[in-house]
Order: sequence, then structure tokens, then C-alpha cells
Amino acid sequence: MATIVCEALTKRYGAVTALDALDLTIAHGEFMVLLGPSGCGKTTTLNLIAGLEEASEGRLLFDGRDVTWLPPHRREVAMVFQSYALYPNKTVFENIAFPLRLRRTPRAGIERAVRAAAEQLEIAHLLDRRPHQLSGGQRQRVALGRAIVRNPAAFLMDEPLSNLDAALRLSMRSLIKRLHHQLRATFVYVTHDQAEAMTLADRIAVMRGGLIQQLDTPEGIYERPANLFVAGFLGSPPINLIEGRIEDGAFRRAELRLPAPRAEPGREVVLGLRPEDVEAPAPHLVPLAGRVELVSPLGSDTYAEVSGPAGTSLTLRVPKGWRVREGEGIEVGVDPARLHLFDRATERRIA
Ligand code: ATP
Repeated sequence: MATIVCEALTKRYGAVTALDALDLTIAHGEFMVLLGPSGCGKTTTLNLIAGLEEASEGRLLFDGRDVTWLPPHRREVAMVFQSYALYPNKTVFENIAFPLRLRRTPRAGIERAVRAAAEQLEIAHLLDRRPHQLSGGQRQRVALGRAIVRNPAAFLMDEPLSNLDAALRLSMRSLIKRLHHQLRATFVYVTHDQAEAMTLADRIAVMRGGLIQQLDTPEGIYERPANLFVAGFLGSPPINLIEGRIEDGAFRRAELRLPAPRAEPGREVVLGLRPEDVEAPAPHLVPLAGRVELVSPLGSDTYAEVSGPAGTSLTLRVPKGWRVREGEGIEVGVDPARLHLFDRATERRIA
């Protein structure tokens, strides 16, 4: 196991700064997810940790040891790629055994380690096959097996589930989570999929433009997004964002008025309301009324597009048991404590 510390880690490609003085400490045995849109620097971070790319500036420490200039094979990390990167002409057994052969592990040791990993990954019956005779999910299990037998200090995974269909992604997600519990190793996992990040991570680093926007637990990131970007990036359907102004202890936009006692008067703000943060009206809640424009039943939940007060267009989760119809009115209750407020100029959270 390893604690991984990135200290002002920077990577430039000519004029492009892919990673901009990244400070990040990944604890021993932690499952850290790097989450963000395409091009935000997730893969660059992982490649620097793996030693597949050289840092332009900054330092990388494993358990306090400076590994910034150490070649990849001496870092004791195992990488798992989206593309699986298996040897097409080798059997599953030989693919998994490969890192141990490189290390000149004795035969009995290889046999034992490969069988144990294959059993853990439920692919023991596939050991004689070649990669082209496997499904995508099975191939990714082989790639995981090859990583496990190395007994690395850290597992580095770059979008390992992206080539799989939705159902398989779900079951592989559980498998990876179980592996983390069993192996108790440090995992660094790159994805642009928020559901994957939320379900797998101990902590998530949300990235944009080579910078960390927020580093927190999945709950922390979802419940208290640090800025507008993070608020908008997590949540499906996305958070409703409404521009307005603070007046008399309230968020105001034309006739729309919602309590915001802690915000400073006169401030230009953006109010965030998650679609699921509405309920049936009740005395302790603030009423919010509008007209249903579109109903989207998803099976487990139903969402409504609502034209709300002050020209707003809102996506709201319809409270359980309600029947709503397009063209009809709807009135829900909002708990003011569930509202998010951001400064319009800095885009930072204020309440
Ligand atoms: P994706 O999800 O699309 O893989 P990412 O978040 O992993 O994106 P990176 O691959 O880390 O992003 O890239 C970060 C930035 O660095 C991008 O702007 C990218 O275009 C740039 N970049 C990455 N590799 C190179 C390279 N070899 N040469 C030039 N620019 C690069």
C-alpha cells in the first residue's frame, strides 16, 4: 500500500498546460476518483503517477519517497486501461502471468497467484482462452487479474469500464469496489462518469482545466458543491440554476422569493435547486408553483419540466404517488436549507 502525494505537479505540452500545479494527497488504501470532463487533465495525472509521462514541474512522493524521476517499472503501481491492453496471442493464463514471468517468479508461485486471481475475478474457467474469445467484461477481468498478481502498492485505472455496455458496467463497478475492499490497496481511478465516481470513491477530485475544483467525499461534493461548475457537473438530471439578487434576507428574481438569511444584501447570485429537493407542500416549506410543460417517467422516478415563476424553466422530481399532466399546474414545497447559493461573479459557493 502507498500514500501518494502530488506536490505542485505540473505538465505542459508546448503551450498547453494539461496540469497546473496540482496538490493532491491520496491516503494509504484510499479509493480516489479523478472526475471531470474531457481534457481536464485526469489521464495526465494518472500517467504522471504511473511514470508514463514526465512532470514539467513539481514532485511526486510515494510513502514519502521522491519517485518523480523513477521509471514506471520501479514504482510498484499497476495500470488498468480502457482498452484492456492484453496480448492477443497469449492465453488468459499467460496474460495474467506475464508480470510474474518478467520478475522470474518460480513456476509454482505463478500457478498459485494466477489461479487465485482468476478465482477472485470468476474467470478460472477461461484460463486457456485467448482475448478474442472473451467478452469485453471478461477481458477487463483479465486485465485486472494481471494487475492483482503484481501485488502493487497502488492500482491506477483509466476509464476501465468505458468500453462496456450499461448493464456490464454496473456489475464490473461492484466487482472493482469489492476488489478494493479485499485488497485494501490504494486505488486511483479516472472517469468522466459521475455515477461511477459517486459509487466507487472514498473521495472525489473534481477537475477542470488542469486544476482541482473540489476534493471531498461523494456526499460532500453533492451536498455542498464548492462552485457552479461542480454543482452543474454532478447530478442527473442536473441542478436548476437561477440568477437573481439578495434583498431583505431573500433570494429575489421578479416575483420569485426564497429565504436566504445568511447572504449579504445586494449580492448578485445564482441559486441552485436540485430536481429531487422538492416535496409535497407543507407548513415548514416554501411553496413553488408552475405549469407542467413535459413529463418524463423513468420508472423509478418521474421528472417534470416546469415553467416556474419569473420566467424560470425548472426540472423537478415529481413527489411519489403524484399524477401530473402536461399543461396543468403544479405546486411543490422547497426546504430552504436544501438551496445552494453561489456568487454570480466568482461562481463560488456562499451558502
Ligand atoms: P479525456 O477524458 O478526454 O481523456 P482527460 O481529462 O484525461 O481527458 P488529459 O488527457 O489529461 O485529459 O489531457 C489534458 C490536456 O492536455 C488536454 O487539453 C489535452 O489536449 C492535452 N494533452 C494531453 N496529452 C497531450 C499530448 N501528448 N500533446 C499535447 N497535448 C496533450
